Order: sequence, then structure tokens, then C-alpha cells
Amino acid sequence: MGGVEFSPMTLNQNAATRNIWSKSIPWPIGADAMVVVPYRCEGAVNLTRLEPALRSWEKETCVRFREMAASEKLHDTYLLIRASTHCTTATLGINPSGPTTVDIFDACGYGGVIHELGHALGFMHEQCRSDRDKYVIIHLENIRKGVPAYEYSLKSTNNFDVPFDYTSIMLYSGAGENGTRVMVARNPLFQTVMDYAQYLPTATPSFMNIKTLNRNYRCDNFAQSDYQP
Ligand SMILES: [Zn+2]
Repeated sequence: MGGVEFSPMTLNQNAATRNIWSKSIPWPIGADAMVVVPYRCEGAVNLTRLEPALRSWEKETCVRFREMAASEKLHDTYLLIRASTHCTTATLGINPSGPTTVDIFDACGYGGVIHELGHALGFMHEQCRSDRDKYVIIHLENIRKGVPAYEYSLKSTNNFDVPFDYTSIMLYSGAGENGTRVMVARNPLFQTVMDYAQYLPTATPSFMNIKTLNRNYRCDNFAQSDYQP
């Protein structure tokens, strides 16, 4: 895709056509152009991992995560972050039939929590982008046991004219079974970046992730100086 222009009205009507996936439902944009995502935690969520991950998506974007008060009435449109034994987000963007659930635990790694929150904001995996075959070669025969093949399937995505990104927090490393590779960078200079970008303690959303998010939520002009945590 790419190169698709939206008028504001069309953008609104196509709110669900967003790398970011064609079927993800974005969080509502407020009258002040900010996107407030109410959330609450369930179980012993590791806040020293979660808090920096939340802040990493807020910095330089119009998204703000707001912790709900314990007394606050529960409604369907909120993010439920659960202490778990796996790293999963049930839906991309809003779950239309209940809270949007993100399951995390320490083994998700530094970037893993940021990655799951990316799903909750509407992001599809980078390797599933509509234009990914120009950037990576997929060897499904090498897929690790237990990893479903659809994690590497091509999807209809709106890429917002933002280039494919080997440093995306939403890109798998592409490591395969027994030291093989499921995914190889067509540009070998990016292979190492692709392997480790998400797994280092310094992991953050990439510049392109931020760009995509801001375009998705129509705040592409958002300046870092406006940031108030
Ligand atoms: Zn994922």
C-alpha cells in the first residue's frame, strides 16, 4: 500500500484501516487532540518494567496512558495489563467486546513490554507489513516449534508512507529452529540490528514507530517539547 492520501473526513471514516493493521480499532482521539488510554493493572505487574514502557510510547506522541482509580467504574474501553506467564496482547487496538488485555511478565524482556503495548495501540508486526518482501526474505521451513506461521504472514497494512524499519520494536528477530533463520534482511547491513533491536535494555519505540503512531492518531506535528508525563 503506501501513498494513500486521506482527507480528514476519509481518515475518520477509515479509522480502522490503519502498520497498524487494516482491522485494528484505534483509541478515540479527544477534543484536545490527545489520545488518552485508561489502564489498570491486575496481579503483580512489574511496574519498574511497565512504567518506562508506557512513558516510551508517550514521549513525542499524543498518546497518554492514564491509570484508572480503583474506584473508577469499569467500562469496556480500557487497557487491562495483567501479570502473566506469557507476553500477549489479545487485540490490535481496541477490543470491541471488552477490555483490551495485555499479558506480560519479566521474561518479555525490556522491549517486549513496549512491543505488547504497541499491539494495544494498533500495531501489527513489522514483518507482516504489506511491503515486507522488499526488505526481508522469509524461510517458513525454519520456524521455531510452537511459533505459528501466521506470525510471518503478509497482511494488508496501512504503512502511512513510513518506510519499513529494521529497528522497529514490532519486528521479530527472525531467529529460527536450531540456529537457523526464518527471516533474513535483504540488506545484510541490517541483519544484526534486526536481531537485537528489540531485546536490548535500551529498547524503545523506533523513530519510524513514533512517526507511524502519530500519523495513525493524526498528531504528526506533535513536538517533544509538549511532553508532559
Ligand atoms: Zn507481537
